[in-house]
Amino acid sequence: MKKMKYVLVTGGVVSGLGKGVTASSIGLLLKACGLRVTSIKIDPYLNSDAGTMSPFEHGEVFVLDDGGEVDLDLGNYERFLDVKLTRDNNITTGKIYQYVLDKERRGDYLGKTVQVVPHITDAIQEWIERVAMIPVDGKEGPPDVCVIELGGTIGDIESMPFIEALGQFSYCVGAGNFCLIHVSLVPVLNVVGEQKTKPTQHSVRGLRGLGLTPNILACRSTTALDENVKEKLSQFCHVSAENIITLYDVPNIWHIPLLLRDQKAHEAIFKVLNLLGTAKEPSLKEWTARAEICDTLHEPVRVALVGKYTGLSDSYLSVLKALLHASVACRKKLVVDWIAASDLEDVTETENLDAYKAAWKLLKGADAVLVPGGFGDRGVQGKILAAKYARENGIPFLGICLGMQIAVIEYARSVLGLKDANSTEFDSNTRNPCVIFMPEGSKTHMGGTMRLGSRRTYFQVMDCKSVKLYGNRRFIDERHRHRYEVNPDMVAHLENAGLSFTGKDETGCRMEIVELHDHPYYIGAQFHPEFKSRPGKPSALFLGLIAAACGQLDAVLQGCESREKVSCDIGNCLNSNKKVYQKNVNGYATKPANIIGDAAIYSYCNGVHS
Ligand code: GLN
Repeated sequence: MKKMKYVLVTGGVVSGLGKGVTASSIGLLLKACGLRVTSIKIDPYLNSDAGTMSPFEHGEVFVLDDGGEVDLDLGNYERFLDVKLTRDNNITTGKIYQYVLDKERRGDYLGKTVQVVPHITDAIQEWIERVAMIPVDGKEGPPDVCVIELGGTIGDIESMPFIEALGQFSYCVGAGNFCLIHVSLVPVLNVVGEQKTKPTQHSVRGLRGLGLTPNILACRSTTALDENVKEKLSQFCHVSAENIITLYDVPNIWHIPLLLRDQKAHEAIFKVLNLLGTAKEPSLKEWTARAEICDTLHEPVRVALVGKYTGLSDSYLSVLKALLHASVACRKKLVVDWIAASDLEDVTETENLDAYKAAWKLLKGADAVLVPGGFGDRGVQGKILAAKYARENGIPFLGICLGMQIAVIEYARSVLGLKDANSTEFDSNTRNPCVIFMPEGSKTHMGGTMRLGSRRTYFQVMDCKSVKLYGNRRFIDERHRHRYEVNPDMVAHLENAGLSFTGKDETGCRMEIVELHDHPYYIGAQFHPEFKSRPGKPSALFLGLIAAACGQLDAVLQGCESREKVSCDIGNCLNSNKKVYQKNVNGYATKPANIIGDAAIYSYCNGVHS
């Protein structure tokens, strides 16, 4: 049986080096060489999963098909590798201890003293071995390579058991099956402009002291490393100069896999993993074209993102990525205008007039309005005002999860005249509860008790924008994360007043998509379409939003209709449609010539993903 190969990515010096993006890029590069790649993210915190963590502190909670609420890095892996991971692909200290303690309670340890070494460290190794075998690319049989990213920075107390386990693991799987890539920082001191190697030297020493030997160094720096700096690192860190890669600053993260390829990171990895000669040269044509096109876009599409966690962009990472995928497909430069929902409210007008004015100015200047998911009542009134503004002024609007519930509340208040219409999440005593707690939820336990993961939505009519954007499918599967739902008792009332529920669950009682027909684009979804958006396959509802914002919606919808007539894949679209990309002498795309046609092709290619 062929042996699984492991690539471990660790980080040193400081956090926030982009270790996750680096690890995803390594995975993508290996995939481009013809290997089947999976990934595991290790988060050494005690939480069982990311579900109970605040997006303010930790960034968004990413949701998987199986309902796993996981670290946002798994989103990077899914997007870069175009795979579907499972909840077990995210290991946390909490999960490992829970597993070991459950075993202890069952008596599985047969009277032994249960200890970090060997019981926790063995559990970590068994977990990695088991999960690495799970196919994640839709094909059968185990993948070829598993990229493991160890969260945190070398030296953290809480990651020690993982380091110990990984040291043992590298020994057990044997040389030739384990490659360690250490991501580090080479700062440039402004005064002298010199690239400093000392922090990297220290962190590699720390790594070695813990029993792990790096095979490759990936150094973050503002500019490419000088040859003499590489030599110095090589000498002090005992890593050959060709195994030292510079990850210098690039205009967008899609360039990272290209940087790695250009510096032959794949060859260095293959040498360590004994794969030289078996894997092919990386083919990244489509990826390269997209990275380059992204840099050339200049005509803006302005999206007002009206949310609660506007202070930390990672809080809405997948939403931002989905907007980007759609904007690139429409050949527009995405500009996100962050609006703290509460700034739109009347109280802010009295308390902080400047903030109020600035927020409304941004909202009024936007080509599209997006209200993302969220919890709690802060800013709800501001979100309602944003939805109302978009509805009344014909501005393309997308409401996601809470954003959809907001759209329903707003409609009930403004059109049905039910002034106190509300969600029971915000007002448990409202006389007009148009959004209510779902019967299966738990009010006492917060972790893992929502309606989570992939659920099916059936389209109710064939003549609406959402069904067309999804390629006229009868049903779609999208990911969920919510406790409340539109009150089924109020649906008829709302529908009679013109709000259409165009997508429902299999029972027909749970509302999934809401739409206004007499509006250029006004859609709300109870699910989170952002989690399944991919660079080359923008999510249908995001594509619709951006296309509507820049006058391309008809073309996109037509493209969806005529898709049976067209036969192409995205790579062919990019490479064969000469009209779309005019290349300059360097081979860089210079201007998108056939914007509408191109967006239509994108929608054809991508409308059909469930
Ligand atoms: N708070 C709402 C609910 O629980 C919306 C959740 C969300 O937007 N993810 O239903």
